[in-house]
Amino acid sequence: MRASFPLLHLMLCVASRVRYEPVMTMTETDVVIIGAGHNGLTCAAYLAMAGLRVHVVERRKVLGGAAVTEEFHPGFRNSVAAYTVSLLNPKVIADLKLAEHGLKIVERRAQNFLPAPDGSYLLTGEGRTAQSVAKLSAHDAEAIGEFSRELEAIADVLRRLVLRAPPNLVENFGAGAIRESLGALTTANILRGLSLEQQRDLLDLFTRSAGEMLDERFEHDLVKALFGFDAIVGNYASPYAAGSAYVMLHHAFGEVNGKKGVWGHAIGGMGAITQAIARAARERGVEIGVGAGVREVIIERDRAVGVILDNGETVRAKYVVSGVNPKLLYTSLIPANALPESFLARIKHWRNGSGTFRMNVALSALPSFTALPGDGDHLTAGIILAPSLAYMDRAWSDARAHGWSREPVIEVLIPSTLDDSLAPDGAHVASLFCQHVAPTLPDGKSWDEHRGEVAELMIRAVDKYAPGFGKTVVGRQVLSPLDLEREFGLLGGDIFHGALSLNQLFSARPMLGYADYRGPLKGLYHCGSGAHPGGGVTGAPGHNAAHAILRDHRTLFKSRG
Ligand SMILES: Cc1cc2nc3c(=O)[nH]c(=O)nc-3n(C[C@H](O)[C@H](O)[C@H](O)COP(=O)(O)OP(=O)(O)OC[C@H]3O[C@@H](n4cnc5c(N)ncnc54)[C@H](O)[C@@H]3O)c2cc1C
Repeated sequence: MRASFPLLHLMLCVASRVRYEPVMTMTETDVVIIGAGHNGLTCAAYLAMAGLRVHVVERRKVLGGAAVTEEFHPGFRNSVAAYTVSLLNPKVIADLKLAEHGLKIVERRAQNFLPAPDGSYLLTGEGRTAQSVAKLSAHDAEAIGEFSRELEAIADVLRRLVLRAPPNLVENFGAGAIRESLGALTTANILRGLSLEQQRDLLDLFTRSAGEMLDERFEHDLVKALFGFDAIVGNYASPYAAGSAYVMLHHAFGEVNGKKGVWGHAIGGMGAITQAIARAARERGVEIGVGAGVREVIIERDRAVGVILDNGETVRAKYVVSGVNPKLLYTSLIPANALPESFLARIKHWRNGSGTFRMNVALSALPSFTALPGDGDHLTAGIILAPSLAYMDRAWSDARAHGWSREPVIEVLIPSTLDDSLAPDGAHVASLFCQHVAPTLPDGKSWDEHRGEVAELMIRAVDKYAPGFGKTVVGRQVLSPLDLEREFGLLGGDIFHGALSLNQLFSARPMLGYADYRGPLKGLYHCGSGAHPGGGVTGAPGHNAAHAILRDHRTLFKSRG
């Protein structure tokens, strides 16, 4: 596949006695994919399974994008960014035979543990939730079953929509318009499966704030916080912001080993997922190059025909597929004069910016929480340190004014309680996913100057619930929003490649008219989280983009006879 011209060039130079100048390698292939995130790799694997030659190019030295496992302290490994699995689509797992390629996902022994400063707590999971909620509020014990069923019914609809391109708005009447109308009918049919009452719930979940909805249903702060946390994960907003209910729903459409709504752990960390996808892809002949990013997409006569890498190499292809944030693609990798003006003007306003700060810590011992001291299944859970919606709301206001919340929202996960491959015997690793820091600090402050101070604050915040935690930290890795942008290309540290707000979802992701995974230039496609259904380790945009490309490829092939 790799056409190697330098030797021939050298011989010609010698023969004609001209000075030898090295020529950069040029590769020709069917598809070049920008970025070896899990979606780029998924797209590559599907395309290769259909017989296309695929080349993936990745800027980092490690493949996997935000789903990677790395050693961050001697002897201690952990998922660097994404840290927990549920949304990875079961069809993708089955189609790519990820289990055969080494992926093993286990359930947490308890789902969530929410300690409160007064010593009370909520512990959820199979066979635990009802009893634990009842200890806090008889009213909520009644209400939680109904709310979970409502959420589950709507999540089921979302499950049926994630592996479909959303209806795409097209101008003029033609084959495209007919295809889109048929697609829209299928989507409408899926929605028609809901009762009128469920359609009202759907509307609420798409438009309202999680805070309002939860205040209407529940009375206890911890019960509201259990759901409210999902509404602000990666969403730099108050749980009372309109649209936050959708973010809550977005975290509910997953499953682990057939159990809906459950979160689990990939043995070996999140990198085990991308390694398994990469193995599936390579088995079908996909070539993955790491350590050289795309400098520019080559455009010839309004068509994307390849990429030029930072090291000067060129990869020419029939199809160019982007797995990076859409704003990064269109404002940094494609010459402005190649794009329709109105498209460029709009994509410049693509909203990025999660309020997240990510830490990995190496621990000499397990933490002991005041609310539930000692070891136990609660230490395998997602431990949410944010005891009420009001606390989350304050954290957001504080971050807006100050740059970070002085009482932050943190999910602590200790994957080594389920996986002994991550830390030495007797030691542990924990992920701290901290919410509500400003993507860009106010008053000209830089994350480079404040990273360490905020990391200390996060450790102290855990210490309040688990005294002595800080003393057990023997190593740490710290990623501010700026670090997430520099390291992974996540603009504004946005974990989803663009906010999950109504104007950036479904048919509007990444823009009305371009929701079918095709970009504004011929031969250009989107396969990353900036396309439907958005962020999370789902594999869905990669799967859907591959289908769009294969459809176009078959049409091209047929038309050429
Ligand atoms: C801190 C954090 C925590 C998260 N937690 C979870 C979680 O627990 N569970 C979950 O499901 N989701 C989580 N997410 C979200 C999830 O990880 C992402 O939405 C998802 O991994 C994005 O996958 P992707 O393949 O679309 O893009 P990415 O993983 O972002 O991959 C894009 C790739 O493109 C590469 N790239 C960028 N520029 C170039 C260039 N010029 N040339 C070549 N390559 C380039 C990048 O290096 C990267 O490898 C989290 C994300 C973050 C950041």
